[in-house]
Amino acid sequence: MLTLKNLRVAFGDHEVLKGIDITVKKGEVVTFIGPSGTGKTTLLRSINYLEKPSDGEVMLSDVGIKFKSANKKDILRLRRKTAMVFQQFNLFKHKTVVENVMDAQIAIQKKSKKEAYEKSCEELEKVGLLDKKDMYPSRLSGGQQQRVSIARALALEPEVILFDEPTSALDPELVGEVLKVIENVARSGMTILLVTHEMRFAKNISSKVVFMDQGHIVEQGTPEEIFEKSTHIRTRQFLKEYY
Ligand code: ATP
Repeated sequence: MLTLKNLRVAFGDHEVLKGIDITVKKGEVVTFIGPSGTGKTTLLRSINYLEKPSDGEVMLSDVGIKFKSANKKDILRLRRKTAMVFQQFNLFKHKTVVENVMDAQIAIQKKSKKEAYEKSCEELEKVGLLDKKDMYPSRLSGGQQQRVSIARALALEPEVILFDEPTSALDPELVGEVLKVIENVARSGMTILLVTHEMRFAKNISSKVVFMDQGHIVEQGTPEEIFEKSTHIRTRQFLKEYY
């Protein structure tokens, strides 16, 4: 359903992703782990073209793009199939919770206000925040704000959701409520790509774990293969420190 071939991204002379190949099946939860600065976030951001790869291609269901020759129309088609949840929530401060969830449905998907409102309420209910729909984000805790941003992503009915370290900006006591919501999203059959430093969560939720280091995929496998049976020295060193 999602395939990346030879994905390469450079910032100036610094090549951050050095030829990534990966295949994700529908309904899979694929988690990317690895040391800081290894390119995990850049990989996610490349999938919806928030970073411009220097080479490689992406195929997401019926959309196939060669990054070197991507045009605007291709990029829009790709973006419409994905939704991203950011570390810093990225909610509009001057819009209420429900307006935040409605925004892209109206602006990008061209839904009517009524339709977007109903869909937003449905998704806010799923993340347990319907009663907060008329509040402004600043009145909510970080965990609640992140749950709103997950509702916003779900409301777009993407084919894949990209979670970029969704709990890294949260106080420890707020992490659990967000992980619970992500777990529910995974259970619903959504295809998920997740970057996280929450190793236990990664082990529990993933169908596939990808260990990255210095712009390469070192190895990938089931949680058991990576967390319990890896024979790769770099993976073992990393897990010894963080797991
Ligand atoms: P972390 O776990 O700390 O979030 P990561 O594995 O997600 O790290 P990235 O955020 O993808 O790593 O960053 C990979 C490398 O690319 C780092 O060296 C980072 O400094 C660099 N980088 C990322 N974004 C940019 C940018 N916009 N301009 C220049 N360099 C960047």
